[in-house]
Amino acid sequence: MISGIRGKDTAPELRVRRFVHRAGLRFRLHVRDLPGRPDLVLPKHRSVVFVHGCFWHQHDGCVKAVMPSSNREFWQAKLEGNRARDIRHRAELERLGWTVHVIWECELNTEAALATLVASVRRPDVDQ
Ligand SMILES: [Zn+2]
Repeated sequence: MISGIRGKDTAPELRVRRFVHRAGLRFRLHVRDLPGRPDLVLPKHRSVVFVHGCFWHQHDGCVKAVMPSSNREFWQAKLEGNRARDIRHRAELERLGWTVHVIWECELNTEAALATLVASVRRPDVDQ
């Protein structure tokens, strides 16, 4: 559960960073003055990336997003709060002209999701 805490250099985050960097894209980390403090910010591509833990951000239909059976009310309020915040941050970022990309922790077992992420971030008209 600790792995869901924001602002840490978590293993999934490092994996995404390494892949994106190897693909030749340059980024900044945890930009504080952007809503939700995105994990990666790619200014040239006008894109931000969030690496979301499936439990904390309640990945739809994911086995890792199952609600704990004890303290149910607490968890429900907490996780729904997280989800509402994610939605608000996305809307704010989009209003500021950013394209928002989310990659889920459970997708990181294969490189396909990372390759898809890079392809959707990369703008063909932008020099790296
Ligand atoms: Zn998931």
